[in-house]
Amino acid sequence: MAGKPDLDVIVVGAGFAGLYMLHRSRGAGFRTRVFEAGDGVGGTWYWNRYPGARCDVESMEYSYSFSNELQQEWEWTERYAGQPEILRYANHVAERFDLRRGITFNTRVTGAVFDENENRWLVTTDSGESVSSPFLVMATGCLSSTNLPDFEGRDSFLGETYHTGRWPHQGVDFTGKRVGIIGTGSSAIQAIPVIAAEAKHLTVFQRTPNYSIPAHNKPLDSAAVQEIKAEYPEFRADNLRMHAGFGSRVHHNDAPALSDDADDREANYAARWRHGGFTFLGAYNDLLRSREANETAAEFVRQRIRETVDDPKVAELLCPDNVIGCKRPCLDTGYFETYNRANVELVDARKRGIERITPNGVVAGGRQFEFDCIVFATGFDAMTGALLGVDVRGRDGVTLKQAWDAGPRTYLGLCTVGFPNLFLVTGPGSPSVLTNMIVAIEQHVDWITDCLRDLRREGCGTIEATRQAQDDWVEHVNTVAGLTLYPTCNSWYLGKNIPGKPQVFMPLIGFPPYAQMCAEVAANGYRGFDLG
Ligand code: FAD
Ligand code: NAP
Repeated sequence: MAGKPDLDVIVVGAGFAGLYMLHRSRGAGFRTRVFEAGDGVGGTWYWNRYPGARCDVESMEYSYSFSNELQQEWEWTERYAGQPEILRYANHVAERFDLRRGITFNTRVTGAVFDENENRWLVTTDSGESVSSPFLVMATGCLSSTNLPDFEGRDSFLGETYHTGRWPHQGVDFTGKRVGIIGTGSSAIQAIPVIAAEAKHLTVFQRTPNYSIPAHNKPLDSAAVQEIKAEYPEFRADNLRMHAGFGSRVHHNDAPALSDDADDREANYAARWRHGGFTFLGAYNDLLRSREANETAAEFVRQRIRETVDDPKVAELLCPDNVIGCKRPCLDTGYFETYNRANVELVDARKRGIERITPNGVVAGGRQFEFDCIVFATGFDAMTGALLGVDVRGRDGVTLKQAWDAGPRTYLGLCTVGFPNLFLVTGPGSPSVLTNMIVAIEQHVDWITDCLRDLRREGCGTIEATRQAQDDWVEHVNTVAGLTLYPTCNSWYLGKNIPGKPQVFMPLIGFPPYAQMCAEVAANGYRGFDLG
């Protein structure tokens, strides 16, 4: 006998998921400890301090709903909160709920082995510590493992290099510098206008052009805020109902795009464009189901690009030709306008890619560019990167890497066969990245905590998904994705941004029915799970 485990619950990660997990788990009387690789809380908002970093879900929504006192007392200042404000919020939550004493910072979890005799996880860290607990919750984040492509000569560059997802805490002064930025995803689209305004010259290397919708960020109107706060619970409930794909309060028009004539359609798109944000993609109910419908929205955006960018060649280069919305949509503040600046150049890296990095710069499109700094805005090994970054070993010593060799397989995105008592917050197979993630996090953490209480009450020591339930779930996730245009792009949803990664559509489309299913599974004695 190995004696009593050190803890009841171990949580990995102190972003919004880990913080809330600690709060709920501790509140339910479980001895809980969090390990966090960074030296502070906030996860995404701790690491991604690049210029322009900002939320694309409105701030009154992108915040916890679990405490009415918290949501009443916190004052957001802008329609879309900037990274520093969100990080202040995460720190405020940590202070307010006395969470810090439960977190061990600067400590990366490196391994987790399930002891089948004792029904407990043995977790090891890079500081040499080993701790045991029956339950392990991975709150490691969907977008926390950075992707730094293995460009030829990458480490030979003599200037400064930065990745948007690991930005220096002291900030970077680009004044007077020649800067190259690789990537045109959400991070780059936010960073480019800000860096361009500061740097001597900015060269943007674009492999795939991206659609972007204006955010129309602005200071929050205090009367409107008070109105929401007066009915915050109703506002949150309403959000859940409206939560149909892009993660925020989108006014969805329940009509197909071709049911309007061209003028009405144009007017609908234009009104939503003026409003800003994801509302644009709620213009019609079939934008992500019908290519013909999608093309009407895509062409509207291309026209805005052509209208905005002075040089027609540059404008064409910026016009995407894929389905709009099948990659995570971007919101911007002055992105396309930035290409009218004399100190900004767009380089097409589609055909030949980034050929190599040299001591002085980058070779792409057959040309040599010289830089003082290179910014990698090359994204993340999304959804599975951080999970597989830990050497997780379940029954019979099988590693999570082996179990997910052909792509992640889960039941409800919460658990995976062969790894008893292991919970994933916003894991693959759950709506996660296709939602306002704080909503998804709260739903998962509440479900996990309720499950832990139920197990305790019933005297159960283990919970594990059945293979049948998992197989059915994976099929369900694929079937739902197959009804849409989502799988048609080279997106990180499919793992296509990482060479060699199995290509599986990882998130589940549709949050409200999903949350309902999770509740029903629990209410039906944890249907699809073996309890031991
Ligand atoms: P994270 O915030 O990623 O936290 C995970 C934590 O786990 C990190 O701190 C990491 O250091 C830690 N960790 C990982 N592995 C280990 C380990 N082995 N040992 C110890 N610690 C570990 N979502 C939205 O809904 N709306 C938005 O507008 C939005 N904007 C975003 C902007 C950016 C730039 C990025 C990158 C993501 C954005 N997201 C957005 C997604 C965002 O990740 C989530 O909203 C949310 O912050 C995730 O919280 P989390 O706690 O699940 O994960
Ligand atoms: P991303 O969307 O994956 O974009 C990465 C960019 O780097 C893409 O343009 C990609 O080109 C390019 N790239 C990657 N590898 C390359 C290579 N080998 N050669 C040339 N180009 C390469 O990453 P991200 O911009 O960091 O965003 C990731 C996610 O984080 C977003 O989708 C979103 O969910 C979240 N996010 C949200 C916000 C927000 O507004 N709130 C801001 C930032 C991030 P290809 O397209 O050709 O692959």
